[in-house]
This record gives sequence, C-alpha cells and structure tokens, in this order.
Amino acid sequence: MMEKLSANEFDLNYDAVTQKLDNALLKVGKTRQDVILLAATKTVDVDTINYAINKGIAYIGENKVQELLSKYDGVIDVHHHFIGHLQTNKVKDVVGKVELIHSVDSLKLAKEISKQSQKIGKTMDILLEINIGDEDSKWGFTPDNLENSIKEIAALTNIRICGLMAIPPICENAEDNRKYFKKMYQLFVDIRDKNIDNSYMDILSMGMSDDFDIAIEEGANLVRVGTALFGKRY
Ligand SMILES: *Cc1c(COP(=O)(O)O)cnc(C)c1O
Repeated sequence: MMEKLSANEFDLNYDAVTQKLDNALLKVGKTRQDVILLAATKTVDVDTINYAINKGIAYIGENKVQELLSKYDGVIDVHHHFIGHLQTNKVKDVVGKVELIHSVDSLKLAKEISKQSQKIGKTMDILLEINIGDEDSKWGFTPDNLENSIKEIAALTNIRICGLMAIPPICENAEDNRKYFKKMYQLFVDIRDKNIDNSYMDILSMGMSDDFDIAIEEGANLVRVGTALFGKRY
C-alpha cells in the first residue's frame, strides 16, 4: 500500500490532471462529456478513493480481483471497472460487481464471462485487450486475428463487446507511444466499419498518467490514470 495521500496533494494532482485533460480536449475539439477519466486505484486506500470521488472522479478501475473485493463495500457510489488481467477462476467474483471489464484477452476468458453472467442474468460489457506492441510479455489479441475473435465472442450470450483497450509498450518518451495509439484508433475504426453483429465500437480505452493527453489526441475516449492522481506507487 502507498503512503496515505494528503487531501491537498490529491487536490493539486487532480488540478494538474484536469488541466492536461482540458488542454488535450481543446486540441481535438472535444469536451469532458466525450472522454471518460477513469482513476486507476490500485494500492490506493478506500478513504483516498472516496475523497477523490467526492472531488469529481466518477469512474474507478482496479486491476486485481482481491483488491476490488476488499475495497468494494467501502467505496461510495461510483462506476466500477475492472482493468487488469483476469483469471477465469475469478470471473464469478467480478461480473456482478463491475460495469465494464477492459481486459478481455482470450476467447476462453470471454466464454467464462458469458457463462457467469448468464448465471446472474446480466449482460456484461467488455472491451477486448489488444497486444498492440506485439510483445511476448503482454496479454491480448493481436490485430490480425481480431476480426475472427470478435465474431466468435460476439456470438456468445450475456456479453456485449463495447470497444477496445490497449497498454502500449513501456517507452522512455511518452511521444513514442503515439504510433501505437494511432494504430489502435485505426483498428478501432476498421472494426467499427465492419458492423459486426453484437459488437459496438464505442469505447477506446488507452492512455495512462504519462501519455493520456497523447492518447486523447489520437482518439482515446477513456483514459486510465493512476500515478498522476494518487502519486507514485511503491
Ligand atoms: C495501473 C494501471 C493504469 C494507470 O497507470 P499509471 O501509469 O499509474 O497512470 C492504467 N491501466 C492499467 C491496466 C493499470 O493497471
């Protein structure tokens, strides 16, 4: 867990993030209605999360199931997303709790989400995670098998594909990620133009603390920001 953040520190961070957000939005002629700022809350304590929500954070995302469950009841009313790698045996703990799973990275996982959602009579909104840097170390679909995977997943019950998500390779310079964001946007638009049944390309989730402004310039409409809001994790 990180050191508890002082209210003042969060306020300063939040101002800086919203300033950077507004500048990026201005560049592309969008408004705050067009882009979701999701706070990535891993390692952040419940009190700090609730403070952030009271300040205006409306979306939060956890990347570990255990952490999501342990904080869930303490967090005040907010949109909960799941953003981390999800093991199939933990799907049942997540589907009833979150509105959107960003990180669906295999057909096997999608099938389990479909099955568990059916059990509770829910249609689960998901994004498909794309391994846009083609890294061996990363989860996700590769761009070339994406269309077939989408067709297979879209045919499952109790699941709705709402868009795509990516975590580009770690770069020294945030600008270096622009090419990956561009690729993601192109993929997003190409898939959208194919109008695959039961697949809705509405959400493009990309961009984190160091590069969310660049991601927005390249078409992201959901950015996931942790460090820039809550400070460095140790
Ligand atoms: C932690 C995390 C983020 C936020 O990363 P920061 O660099 O701290 O902004 C975004 N997406 C995912 C999936 C994460 O796990």
